[in-house]
Parts: sequence; C-alpha cells; structure tokens
Amino acid sequence: MRKKIIAGNWKMNKTLEEGMGLVSELSNMLKDEYQGSAEVVIIPPFVHLNAVSKLIADNPRLASGAQNCSNHKSGAYTGEVSAGMIGSVGCKYVIIGHSERRQYFGEHNAWLAQKIDAVLTAGLNPIYCCGETLEERENNSHFEVLEKQISEGLFHLNDDQIKQVVVAYEPVWAIGTGKTASTAQAQEIHAFIRGLISKKYNEALAQEITIQYGGSVKAENAAELFAAPDIDGALVGGAALQSRSFVDIVKAMA
Ligand code: PEP
Repeated sequence: MRKKIIAGNWKMNKTLEEGMGLVSELSNMLKDEYQGSAEVVIIPPFVHLNAVSKLIADNPRLASGAQNCSNHKSGAYTGEVSAGMIGSVGCKYVIIGHSERRQYFGEHNAWLAQKIDAVLTAGLNPIYCCGETLEERENNSHFEVLEKQISEGLFHLNDDQIKQVVVAYEPVWAIGTGKTASTAQAQEIHAFIRGLISKKYNEALAQEITIQYGGSVKAENAAELFAAPDIDGALVGGAALQSRSFVDIVKAMA
C-alpha cells in the first residue's frame, strides 16, 4: 500500500517558542487521538528545524521537513541553506517548487530539477509541488502546464530516485484562498500525474508514488479528499498553524 503523508507547511509563521508549543501539543494530541499509520510531517521555518527535529526524534509517527533548499552543496551563497545541512539536523523531507517559491522567487523547472538532485544526494525525500494558476485552468492549459512541471522537474531521475519523491498537487488558485479543488477535480489531476509517471517509468512504480493534495485543506473537506483513490494525503498551510485543525485533518485519514 502507498504511504500516506500529511504535511504541515508553516511558511513564514511562528516564533521558536510558539512553534515548540505547537509541536508539543500536536505530539500529545496525536498520541491520544490517532492510531492510524499516516506519517505526519512538520515543516517549520529553517531556524526552528533543529529544535523541532530534536523534540520529535523519539516519535516514529512524526518527521520534519524544510520549506526549500539550495541547489548547491556548499560555498559562497550567502543566505542559502543546503540539503546536507537540513539532513544534518535530522530532517527527512524538503519541499521543492512550492508555488510561492515559483511566483515570488522566480524558481523555474530547470532550477527545481537541480534542487531535487541536491535533496536526493543528501539522502532526503523531496516533496515536489506542481499546480496550475486560475488563468491556466480557465484557458484549459492545466494538463499541459502540469506535464511540463512534472517532466522538467522529475523525469531526469532514474527508477530508484523517483521512488524517493513525494508529489504534491497544489492548484495555485486554491492555496490560501479558502477555495478547495473539488474531490473530482483533484482526483482527475492525481490520476493524470500518476499516468505521466507510469508512461515514463512503469505502472508498478507509479503505484508506489505518494501524491498529496494541497490547497485550503481543512478538517471539513479532508475525509472526502482522502477517500479518492489517487489522493495519498495532504500538504496543509493555514490549517497546520493550529494543533486542533491539523490533528483533525490527520484523523480524517482512515
Ligand atoms: C500550502 O501552502 O501548501 C497550502 C496548501 O496552503 P493552504 O492550506 O493555506 O491553502
């Protein structure tokens, strides 16, 4: 069975004290309320990664991740953080190509392919984000856009490497807007992405890849999304900033 993963991306929110408080609450609530097997990933800002990773180290259900990394291994790149550094503080995942990175920081597919390589070289798992804008959906170019993001970002990888990747489908029009893709819309795209991977690699491999949905996921819509055959979890933004709403999303994963 494919691995189910619920990840909470804090973006640029929470002081260290607030973040540690949230992680402690999450950890206790999950212990009391969730017996399922989904992996829960906490993705705080870089400066909190070491402390968060230490706090969850003895909880096998929890993992930590970073929101971005450099495509370089080390050197004179002021302000950047390498995948190796992220791994050295105990993280397992790195988000690559979040739409906010694509939109505000000019990250494009070729650059993201290099970041994917950096993450894999460090022995970590990329969470590779893809998704169309509202304009692209309205002019019906979304399948083309997604195919380009997936093929240019990932299809240079070999079979063993692609198996380490988690894909997150995040329609840009649904991120932080309160507008969620319908389950039918999300399922259609998840099946499309799995089909692209099957065509490039093979069906058995495609069936192993975890594909998360992201875009205004809440406790109220999570169970229906998770019941769709190709939706293997969620990448959550706003609702991951409070323990109650995030734990309720995790509990929606049967
Ligand atoms: C995200 O940041 O990846 C995200 C999906 O945000 P939100 O849940 O707030 O839409």
